[in-house]
Amino acid sequence: MIQYSLICGNDHKFDAWFRNAEAYDEQQKRGIVTCPVCTAGDVRKAIMAPAVSRANSDKVALSIGHPEHAQLRAAMRALREKVTSEADYVGDKFAEEARKIHFKDVEARGIYGEATRDEVAGLIEDGVDFMPLPNLPDEQN
Ligand SMILES: [Zn+2]
Repeated sequence: MIQYSLICGNDHKFDAWFRNAEAYDEQQKRGIVTCPVCTAGDVRKAIMAPAVSRANSDKVALSIGHPEHAQLRAAMRALREKVTSEADYVGDKFAEEARKIHFKDVEARGIYGEATRDEVAGLIEDGVDFMPLPNLPDEQN
């Protein structure tokens, strides 16, 4: 099941559940997704601000010199170790597996792995709730 935030032609916002993304597209095309307030059929997905904007997708947020960096780095290392020891490594199948978990095609479990920028953008679009695993500068070589 997938939940979408929808908006009708009269600006009524509401949430609706669909079996999957294709089911929404199909029902929306046939005009049978209607507004619960005014029953209008011209319903579309409400625009959600994506966490990663495409224009800035080649930039990363950085910081240097703050006294709490050492603590933050230790916390990030601990988080990374916890995730990598408790979750299943799925390699470059992350997007595929994350989607299965999100749409409840498989039992919920913790996984980690890698995804391309396009796959990440697709996951955000589908509303999959994932988070980046911190990469520590001293582990990149
Ligand atoms: Zn309406």
